[in-house]
Amino acid sequence: MSEETENFINQKYIEDLLAGAEFADDASISAALDRAEKGASLEHGEIASLLKTSNPAHIKRIFDIAGRIKRRIYGNRIVMFAPLYVSDYCVNKCAYCSFNCKHDFRRSKLTMDELREEVKILEMMGHKRLALEAGEEDALCSIDYILECIKTIYDMKFGNGEIRRVNVNIAATTTENYRKLKSANIGTYILFQETYHEPTYSRVHHSGPKKDFLWHLNAFDRAQDAGIDDVGGGVLFGLGDPYFDVMGLLLHNEHLEKKYNAGFHTISVPRLCQASGMDINDFPNLVNDDTFAKIVAVIRIAVPFTGMILSTRENHDMRKKILQLGISQISAGSSTEVGGYAKRKRNEIANPQFLVNDERSAVSIISELMDDGYIPSFCTACYRGGRTGDRFMSLAKSGQIGNVCLPNALMTLCEYSMDYGDDAFREKTSEIIEKEIMQISNETIRKKTIESMEKIRSGAGRDFYV
Ligand code: SAM
Ligand code: SF4
Repeated sequence: MSEETENFINQKYIEDLLAGAEFADDASISAALDRAEKGASLEHGEIASLLKTSNPAHIKRIFDIAGRIKRRIYGNRIVMFAPLYVSDYCVNKCAYCSFNCKHDFRRSKLTMDELREEVKILEMMGHKRLALEAGEEDALCSIDYILECIKTIYDMKFGNGEIRRVNVNIAATTTENYRKLKSANIGTYILFQETYHEPTYSRVHHSGPKKDFLWHLNAFDRAQDAGIDDVGGGVLFGLGDPYFDVMGLLLHNEHLEKKYNAGFHTISVPRLCQASGMDINDFPNLVNDDTFAKIVAVIRIAVPFTGMILSTRENHDMRKKILQLGISQISAGSSTEVGGYAKRKRNEIANPQFLVNDERSAVSIISELMDDGYIPSFCTACYRGGRTGDRFMSLAKSGQIGNVCLPNALMTLCEYSMDYGDDAFREKTSEIIEKEIMQISNETIRKKTIESMEKIRSGAGRDFYV
């Protein structure tokens, strides 16, 4: 691990900001919210004061503003994905994870045949976008194995479907390995910092390469140096002070923006869940539902153009609530276990990484999203059209997202309904499409979208995107 590292997380600076925020008066918080409402980017101190406020009137305004930002930038689209665990071998001792190497269970990694079985099941659920997940074990789960998995997934073609985007969530690695991932055509490289508070980080990572805070912190720099310009950050809420960690996320994002002209493409907001081998009550910083909702809303306000991802770690009710506050991407029908999709079919569950709290099937989640007025989207266009990194950010900031993401969402939903829906589902989809199509303001794109959907419905074509 000789590659250079830099610590751009100034612990004292964040602690001082949060301490100062304790003294923010109502007038200054209202002024910060007024500025947020007008689309201004907030200063660090202002963001800290929004995080720290417990005044119900301010919190209500934070929710309102976050909801409006979300609707303005992302409309009512929700992008769907599913995790795919390929290996649970791990050399690290992360206190919160069941894959921790000190835990004794029968570990495995997927053979290519088992991988194909998993992908087939995911494809049958309608998924087009996966997040490939693995523990860290260079000998048994080498970068070559990960590359073989990615190639196998991309090579699979079914009657109608295929996986069109493989995001990758594997341990921090070398620039050389990131170069290999880049040439394997990955979507987003995702890595959670877990916590930006170095003393807490050291406390919960007992041993293994992941224990090296700076090596982990600089992973996206190495990924960017290797040409991966689409990176997704996150922290595991429940480990450290959640407000400190939100400020850490924002500083990390600014560091990447400054150095590479592109910050996080997405921010994930995982919350600690019970897992085997750990007791969740041993973690003193668990985040309650109200604080979690406030955090999601403040992140939405602080970085309006960064996608936000929510997983099935959250239960049904929480997902419903949080979706309105800024989430743009959710997983559905997830398993957090190696071979878990095939095992689920056989009614066997052995050792998931953690216990999910939303166990509904993908189709019931998708259907309920539509009942709640959302457009589930299976779009993978940006990545396939090379619109990543700063190019995606330019699109998001241009206000043209409605002329790009909305048609793509409608076309992919139309395709989903033809491939996976019954008559009632197709009818529901048609109603949504009819209602939403007029929101595409560019007439040429609107016409093209209508034509493409006619082709999808008649079987004359598929996989259209703008
Ligand atoms: N092993 C790699 C790593 O740790 O960076 C890849 C990602 S790991 C498969 C996925 C993520 O699961 C971790 O980054 C961690 O935040 C999360 N995780 C681990 N244990 C968890 C738990 N008990 N509850 C919720 N999330 C957990
Ligand atoms: Fe291994 Fe990742 Fe789990 Fe840590 S979080 S034990 S590195 S799989």
